[in-house]
Amino acid sequence: AKRAGTHAWVLHDPSMIDRRAEDAALSDDLAAALDRGELNVLFQPMVDLVSGRPIGAEALVRWQHPTRGVVSPVRFIPIAERSGIITEIGLFVLEQALLQLKAWRQPLYISVNLSPRQLSEPTIVHDILAVLGRTGMPPESLVLEVTESAIVDENTGIAALRALREHGIRVAIDDFGTGYSSLQYLTRLPVDILKIDRSFVGELNGTPAGSAITEAVIRLSQVLNLTTVAEGIETAEQAAELLTLGCDTGQGYLYARPLPGPDLDDLMTAVRAD
Ligand code: C2E
Ligand code: CA
Ligand code: CA
Ligand code: CA
Repeated sequence: AKRAGTHAWVLHDPSMIDRRAEDAALSDDLAAALDRGELNVLFQPMVDLVSGRPIGAEALVRWQHPTRGVVSPVRFIPIAERSGIITEIGLFVLEQALLQLKAWRQPLYISVNLSPRQLSEPTIVHDILAVLGRTGMPPESLVLEVTESAIVDENTGIAALRALREHGIRVAIDDFGTGYSSLQYLTRLPVDILKIDRSFVGELNGTPAGSAITEAVIRLSQVLNLTTVAEGIETAEQAAELLTLGCDTGQGYLYARPLPGPDLDDLMTAVRAD
């Protein structure tokens, strides 16, 4: 006990042991969650900053656990990644998302998160095209969101993204600016859209320092001919500043929280109101 330094403390940290036990329990429950219909998909509109109209929506998964209540994807997606069940969950979310888009019957797109593990599956391109075929939705209506680290870590991932893009599916880099890929590397990545992480949007306050990173990302996108999406917009001031900086698309609580698809029917089907 005398030399019970950092190492012993870590091993006996009760919160860490609880966490591991809970991870294991959640991992077991997750295997059955899909079959039991406990997973559902919410949708958050993405808005054209110039016209103010919705042009698409991001699909975000939720888990209604029978005893724990709603479990956040921040908690269970990493667990699903480790167990591999993310592959099944990901295809479920994709299908639900495309069916919702079909129900809206509008020229909108749907954005679906793709985890690193999914991207490294040898059958990923085939699986995604199969879901598009089954739902009867065109590849042009789909955007896949991947993180920088997912692309950089997985060499196979780049080949898969290239193939998906050749079929007309668009690729967005999620949480852009929080990863570590070099700017030079970015010019060679198969992407169409950069999503500015909400931590940068939260810093916008009308000062040059507050907008430095957001502005740099928008300029970079313009040079590379990419579309920019700002996430986590909570105030009208942030939206106005993003518009001034030349950002194309916005997403955040200012417009709508993630909601069940039918709750967005009025908003999403007013697209052609012109
Ligand atoms: P993300 O892809 O970066 O999704 C954006 C997150 O920001 C969502 O959290 C959304 O609800 C939240 N958000 C949107 N607008 C605002 C805002 O104005 N303010 C604030 N504070 N937050 C906002 P959510 O739904 O809890 O999802 C968290 C993360 O879980 C996602 O981050 C994504 O990484 C992951 N995730 C969610 N659904 C899926 C999925 O179907 N597949 C995979 N692989 N990951 C998913
Ligand atoms: Ca995302
Ligand atoms: Ca994001
Ligand atoms: Ca994020």
